[in-house]
Amino acid sequence: KGPDPDLVTIGERMATVKHKILVLSGKGGVGKSTFSAQLSFALAALDYQVGLLDIDICGPSIPKMLALEGQEIHQSNLGWSPVYVESNLGVMSIGFMLPNPDEAVIWRGPRKNGLIKQFLKDVYWGELDFLVVDAPPGTSDEHISIVQCLDATGIDGAIIVTTPQQVSLIDVRKEVSFCKKVGVKVLGVVENMSGLCQPVTDFKFMKTMETGEQTDVTEWVRDYMREKAPEMLNLFACSEVFDSSGGGAAKMCQEMGVPFLGKVPLDPQLCKAAEEGRSCFLDKDCGASAPALKKIIEKL
Ligand code: ADP
Repeated sequence: KGPDPDLVTIGERMATVKHKILVLSGKGGVGKSTFSAQLSFALAALDYQVGLLDIDICGPSIPKMLALEGQEIHQSNLGWSPVYVESNLGVMSIGFMLPNPDEAVIWRGPRKNGLIKQFLKDVYWGELDFLVVDAPPGTSDEHISIVQCLDATGIDGAIIVTTPQQVSLIDVRKEVSFCKKVGVKVLGVVENMSGLCQPVTDFKFMKTMETGEQTDVTEWVRDYMREKAPEMLNLFACSEVFDSSGGGAAKMCQEMGVPFLGKVPLDPQLCKAAEEGRSCFLDKDCGASAPALKKIIEKL
């Protein structure tokens, strides 16, 4: 029996892609797609030729996070053309194929596998420095498909995104174990939503009244600070938000022998950038997440 012709075609397509990076997470909602999007923006801003492939077939959020909602895929004689944010940042997602963004994709494994294969076979990326693959959470059909299609040895490695608490870290261990089993190198773990630090002037202050109702006392607090201790207006208020008393991702990485890439704080401006499909990395308006993301990307 000869080699699988699909894999041969994929091999030919991928011959023009220098580096392939998977972005994984154990759970949903930890910021994996946000990280994939910001990583792609950042690499493109560094003048690399970048492709972002969204294989989260049931929940594609990449089109929105790059402000490409409503765009469609075009076909040329070379294959399917990605949708371009800029000339050096192309995106492919099932989101571009759905008649409307509210449409549910209810597919079993073989159909998902079929589409991932087709993405890899039919999309014409051209010369790429990086192909960033945003996978769904967990270790399911899509993950097996991408690893089989690209051949684990053809993948430079995986970045795993998590939040600091144990409930999320337990699932990261499964991702690490998946990577080890299939032979994909773990480039490292990113601890996202790791604490919240905001200027005290951004906060709303609430007081619980005797009736149990909450009243906004922000102006009263600000006036008090202005009068009694104006330097307090320059303070940042920080909170851990999620429990990291177990040592967070850094400790888990040490135990599992995989690199810890760093922490990205909760940053309302990063959330806004993701909502609006903008880069936060080079945006001077972005808060504490921008330098944190920059440091992580420099480590890769
Ligand atoms: P996942 O891909 O893991 O399901 P998303 O990337 O969709 O998660 O993120 C879930 C939500 O949290 C999105 O609205 C996203 O913009 C927001 N988010 C992610 N990381 C941060 C952060 N560090 N600060 C603020 N909001 C964030």
